[in-house]
Amino acid sequence: MKTLVFATNNQHKLQEVRQILGEKFDIKGLSDIGCTVDIPETADTLQGNALQKAKYVKEHFGLDCFADDTGLECAALDGAPGIYSARYAGENHDSEANMRKLLEELKEKNDRSAQFRTVISLLYHGEEYFFEGIVRGTIIDEHKGTKGFGYDPIFVPEGYDTTFAEMSAEEKNSISHRGRAVARLAEFLSKLQ
Ligand code: IMP
Repeated sequence: MKTLVFATNNQHKLQEVRQILGEKFDIKGLSDIGCTVDIPETADTLQGNALQKAKYVKEHFGLDCFADDTGLECAALDGAPGIYSARYAGENHDSEANMRKLLEELKEKNDRSAQFRTVISLLYHGEEYFFEGIVRGTIIDEHKGTKGFGYDPIFVPEGYDTTFAEMSAEEKNSISHRGRAVARLAEFLSKLQ
């Protein structure tokens, strides 16, 4: 079985991806390969950050690798918070503070449309590949639901009247930005010999 590194320390993401790709690939997380550093993400695009993480693993560990980066992009804020989604309200990755700041920024805005966008970058046999997943929706003014993470309690996906935080993990994964990007990666990998 071929080994492929997913450049993440997030066990939940790893489990999700192993469920999809696990039959064909031995998917290893960063801790499985002994990578304990916080890999820098200093690019100014999701694609650039995802590639930076994958390249780090290739350069330091010599293994084929993929990495993801996600942002919430609000139309009325010209795509913010975007690449700054995790640290919108400061460096300490506090989802409550991030949501508070976002609702404050959107207070006077009529356009509440937003999208989550994930870009996965794959380095495989010396080539770079990119896979994107998008889910469009609306930012509501109150918090609804307790599941999920990040901005889930204030994001209602298009075609639904519940937030991501009110959905089961299965339901969210079946329509989510990350779910869609991983599905595209899986389709690509399934065609490889
Ligand atoms: P990451 O690139 O997956 O680490 O995502 C960056 C940030 O985007 C996270 O820290 C969250 O604030 C936000 N985010 C990413 N995915 C989701 C999601 O599925 N729901 C809510 N927020 C998310």
